[in-house]
Amino acid sequence: MKIASVETIPVKHTLKEPFGNGQGWTTSRQYLIVRVTSSDGIAGYGECWGPIAGNDRVVGEIIAPLLIGQDPTDTARLWEQIHFKLRWAYHSFAPYSALSGVDIALWDLKGKLIGQPVHKLLGGAFRDSVPAYATGHYFRRVDRLEDQISAVLQEAKEHLSEGFKTLKLKIGLKLLGWGPEADIALMRALHEEVGSRASLMIDANCAYSLPEAIKVGRAAEELGVSWFEEPLPPDDLDNYVRLSEKLDIPVAAGESWALLSRFHEVFRRQAVSIAQPDVCSAGGITEVKRIADLAHALNVPCIPHVWGTPIALAASLHVLATLPRHALLEFDRSENAIREGLLTRPFAVRPDSTVAVPDGPGLGIEVDEEQLDRFRVAA
Ligand SMILES: [Mg+2]
Repeated sequence: MKIASVETIPVKHTLKEPFGNGQGWTTSRQYLIVRVTSSDGIAGYGECWGPIAGNDRVVGEIIAPLLIGQDPTDTARLWEQIHFKLRWAYHSFAPYSALSGVDIALWDLKGKLIGQPVHKLLGGAFRDSVPAYATGHYFRRVDRLEDQISAVLQEAKEHLSEGFKTLKLKIGLKLLGWGPEADIALMRALHEEVGSRASLMIDANCAYSLPEAIKVGRAAEELGVSWFEEPLPPDDLDNYVRLSEKLDIPVAAGESWALLSRFHEVFRRQAVSIAQPDVCSAGGITEVKRIADLAHALNVPCIPHVWGTPIALAASLHVLATLPRHALLEFDRSENAIREGLLTRPFAVRPDSTVAVPDGPGLGIEVDEEQLDRFRVAA
């Protein structure tokens, strides 16, 4: 069996209403979908994190020529070849999201060719469903903090009525000109409203300095918040170490880090208590499974970051199914027509707050080709 083609399919959905987090405003959802097709016409799908343009050129010009004619079931060997080529080509800043999307497509194709779900090929599933938490509660363009708070409370109640029992709140309101005190007020208001019915996490998307993060983290500890995500910029590892030493609340991060080698450094320095690699940017299923295995050996929960299409959801669920201890799925609830429309059978949270792990061959999902064309844009 040989790889016959590697295609890139850029997709984009412009939001009806932009929303913000601690880093900036989101106005559209865009992804590069990768389709790898074998010589007998079987296709596997993957997804690259981030802007379309760079990923499209890297997959088309560098990765695709390397893969044509190769055996698509050799996922680890192909991963090493791509990684070597990208590192050689780009030196210090290689586009690992391009590698990630191709790797996910290869796993999907490999599973379809062998007739087994990816979780089986990764060593077997510990569970057939994974508890999910709702990501949402983004910033609106409002003038008054009270309006931000009331919108968040309303949204939280909707997530609870859908079945979610765990919610993640976005903080870092300095984007709207407010300081950490506003974030603490927002967090306290949400805790007061739903804290008896739901577990809460907070995510600052790298908004703080170390003193600000300590202040917000201590307020979160008082409320029993489950984790404090990305309090600091990802390059500020020294202060992640200091913050984790000072706070009792678990510090979580990882969506902005790629590769096992980076996570090894993070774990060695005890910079975080929860690791959050993203399959679409950290190195694909191959590398996130390795990161999860290292985290398991060190008894650090690995809770992948997921913010993409249903391809990212499926790939993450397969990895999560194989984790021996902790498993929790990030289920983004913000506006994303691609997440809702790309599959013939979309993912949904069940009344018991879990999402089923797909059990068909490969990723176990069926991409709706008509919908894929509908979302398709020029690269
Ligand atoms: Mg996050």
